[in-house]
Amino acid sequence: MKLSEFPRQGRFGPFGGRFVPEILMPALEELEAAYRDLKGEPGFKAQLAGLLRDYAGRPSPLYFAANLTQYAGGARIYLKREDLIHGGAHKLNNALGQALLAKRMGKTRLIAETGAGQHGTATAIAGAVLGLQTEIYMGALDAKRQQMNVFRMELLGAKVHLVENGGKTLKDAINEALRDWATNVRNTHYLVGSVVGPHPYPMIVRDFQSVIGKEIREQILTREGRLPDLLVACVGGGSNAIGTFYPFADEAEVGFLGVEGGGDGGRHSAPLSHGQVGVLHGMRTYLLQDEWGQIAKTNSIAAGLDYPGVGPEHALYLALGRAEYTTVTDEEALFAFRLLSRLEGIIPALESAHAVYAALERAGNMSPEEMVIATLSGRGDKDLETAISAVGETDGLGSDRG
Ligand SMILES: *Cc1c(COP(=O)(O)O)cnc(C)c1O
Repeated sequence: MKLSEFPRQGRFGPFGGRFVPEILMPALEELEAAYRDLKGEPGFKAQLAGLLRDYAGRPSPLYFAANLTQYAGGARIYLKREDLIHGGAHKLNNALGQALLAKRMGKTRLIAETGAGQHGTATAIAGAVLGLQTEIYMGALDAKRQQMNVFRMELLGAKVHLVENGGKTLKDAINEALRDWATNVRNTHYLVGSVVGPHPYPMIVRDFQSVIGKEIREQILTREGRLPDLLVACVGGGSNAIGTFYPFADEAEVGFLGVEGGGDGGRHSAPLSHGQVGVLHGMRTYLLQDEWGQIAKTNSIAAGLDYPGVGPEHALYLALGRAEYTTVTDEEALFAFRLLSRLEGIIPALESAHAVYAALERAGNMSPEEMVIATLSGRGDKDLETAISAVGETDGLGSDRG
């Protein structure tokens, strides 16, 4: 059976599934049925394609990074420019898709949880343009650290609920959002932000993000007349990576490299590289947990990579050896952040800088006839403060290498 045919019965081989309280089962079944009906429907497809084109700015360019290629001294490096999508990242591809799906299901209200605020912002944008009431759950501690994003979401018309329970961060916000959904499922869609959670979310989010890989295929065939040798993307929950990889899943000659947050080299956020299999947020997948099965604290300079689990389809790709996964440290990501800014005039998100660093390393060991495509998941404007304080600590941005 082909890799692209997963999930089967809600599972990616031994991973994925639907580990949720009974009370949520009807909502997940309703969502799955509606999605199966609508995804191939010409009206739905045309409406989504129109929004992606005229509102989000698709297709995003595939840019040949000549200066970066010269610096690496090996394979030709291309960048898929998701940083140019409205909102500044790939997240809107999924938010628009799910918001449109919700609307077609007759829902009037969107809820979502957010950590640093990126997914909350994308959801607020989609809610605004499609006229859906939008409410975002955010840990009170996260909100304090990300005041600009709270303001941004409110400006976009969303109501932001500050969660004061537990550690007052993402995990607690997820619990509150689930409680809301269980109570209000008749008029409410829970807009999940990555390829995580119970079936059908990993499948739905993958399909909406696959626009990235589908465009890459067309663009590279036009430009180079053949498929790339290696695709590289950063992995938080894994949505920009699976969106990049999935359309090439059955073509073994196209290599996949997923890049997790290596943190400070000690503490990290790399469940595929260093985790064990367990169950969290409704799915069976690789997790960071301690010897008692308690979820471990994660660490990455990139807020979007700072998650203790990962999408179950990546777990399958790892188990089958279809994709390779590696880590890039905070310091290496900062190096790529600065390098891409100087060499190409593109300030990448710190998440994306992880992919750029790994692509640079690989390309350096490949031949000039080969091609590497790295997905630039977002732009770096949101990370300037983080980068400035990191310079103070490590002097990492000031020094030249090579
Ligand atoms: C959220 C985010 C990520 C991580 O999410 P994935 O689901 O792994 O793609 C990566 N890059 C940027 C810019 C983000 O905002």
